[in-house]
Amino acid sequence: MIEIEARLHELHALGLNRRMRLVSGPQGPHVLLDGKPVLLLCSNNYLGLADHPRLREAAADAAMRWGVGAAASRLVSGTMTIHRRLEERLAEFKGRQSALLFGSGYLANAGVIAALARPGDVVFSDELNHASIIDGCRLSRADVFVYDHCDVEHLHWGIGKAEGRGALIATDSVFSMDGDIAPLTEIVELAQQHDLRVLVDEAHGTGVLGPGGRGALAEAGIEDQVDVIVGTLGKALGSYGAFVACDEPMARYLVNAARTFIFSTALPPPAVAGALAALELLQESPKRVQRLAANAAALRDQLELEGFDLRGSRTHIIPLIVGDAQLALRICEAALMRGVFAQAIRPPTVPPMTSRLRLAVMATHRQEELRAAARTLAQVARAAGLQPRMHLGPAAAKPLEAPESAPAEETAPPGPPRVGVFDFEASETVRRAA
Ligand code: PMP
Repeated sequence: MIEIEARLHELHALGLNRRMRLVSGPQGPHVLLDGKPVLLLCSNNYLGLADHPRLREAAADAAMRWGVGAAASRLVSGTMTIHRRLEERLAEFKGRQSALLFGSGYLANAGVIAALARPGDVVFSDELNHASIIDGCRLSRADVFVYDHCDVEHLHWGIGKAEGRGALIATDSVFSMDGDIAPLTEIVELAQQHDLRVLVDEAHGTGVLGPGGRGALAEAGIEDQVDVIVGTLGKALGSYGAFVACDEPMARYLVNAARTFIFSTALPPPAVAGALAALELLQESPKRVQRLAANAAALRDQLELEGFDLRGSRTHIIPLIVGDAQLALRICEAALMRGVFAQAIRPPTVPPMTSRLRLAVMATHRQEELRAAARTLAQVARAAGLQPRMHLGPAAAKPLEAPESAPAEETAPPGPPRVGVFDFEASETVRRAA
C-alpha cells in the first residue's frame, strides 16, 4: 500500500511541491491571482472566448432550456438535441463526415487509442506527446514505439522494426509544451505507405492554425487524410469537453468501443452551448485567429530581441527554456512579483533539465503589454542568474546552481534518448541502435 505521507515527502524531495493558485473572477488576459492583478500568460483561453458575453449567454440560456447536467451517459439517455447539433457543427468545421463528443481531451485520447490498438499491436507515439496519449497507449496494452520528437526517419525505422504489427501513429499537432508543429504531411505519407492509422491531437491547433482556425491539418490541407482528429472545447473554444472528428464508420465504431465515451456522463448542456457559440463566433469573425497569430509573433519577436531562444516555436505557445527546475520556479515567482504570470513547468511534465516557463498568448492581449512582459521576463531571468542565451535546450542546459533533483519516475532517465519498442508486458526496450 502507498504510504501517503512518505510518498509525499519523496515527491517534495524530487522538487515536486505543486500548489494551485487561485483566480478570482472570470478568465481573461488579466486576472486576479491570489488577490493580485496579473497579466495572464499561461492560459489556454487562446481566443479569449471563455468569458465572452455570447458564450456566457448561450451557456446560461442552455441551462434554462436543457438544465445543468445531461444526467446520463450518451448511450443511456444522455444524448440530447444540443449534443447532436454541436457534433454536426464540429464535423462541418473539421471537414469530416462525423464528430463525436467526449468528456474531455484526456478522455478522448485515452478512449480512442485504447479502441484502436490492442495487445500485440504497436502504437507509434512522439516522445513529447501529451500525457493522455501516453495513457491511451497504456490502456490499450499494445506495444509502444516512442519515436524521437518529430523525427520521421526514426518513426520510419520503428515501423520497420514492428514487422507489420503497427496499428496507429499518434501525435499532437501543436506540442503543448514547446509550441512546435508535428511533420503532419510526412507522417500521413508514411502511414499511407505502411497501411497505418493516424490520430492527430489538435488540442492546441483547433481555433489557432489553418484557415478559419480549422487546425494544423487544415493548414497542411490534409484534414481528410487522417483517421481521427481529436480536438478540445476547453482551450481556444472557451468551454469544456472534447470531440473527435472522423468518418462515419469510425464514429460508429467508437460509439461501441471507446470505453471513455461509453461509460461516462454526457457533456453538460451549458458547456455544449458555450462551444456552439464559440464556433459561431469563430466562423463569423476569423479575425480573432489572425489577431492571435499577430500577438504571438509580437511576443516571439520581442523575446528573441531580448536574447531568448524559442526552440523553433512558431505558434502562440512559446517555451522559455531555463533548464534547472528551481531556477524556473524562481524566475516564475520574480515575474509574478512584477505582475506577469507565466507558469514554470517542470519534470515530469517536461523532460529532465528542460524546465521552462511556458508562455501562451491570447488574441485579447495587447501587443504593447506582451512586449513589456517580454522585457520583464528578460530582466527577472537575468537577475535570477539566467543569461537567456545560455540555456537553449537540453543539450546546452547546464544548471547554474544546484543540479536539478532526480527526475520523478514517470520521467525518462537521463542519457540515451528514450526511444524504442516498449513491450508493455515484459518491460523490454529495443533501442534504435540495438
Ligand atoms: N491533448 C493535449 C495536447 C493537451 O495539451 C491537453 C490538455 N492540456 C489534452 C489533450 C487534454 O485535454 P482536456 O484538458 O480537454 O482534457
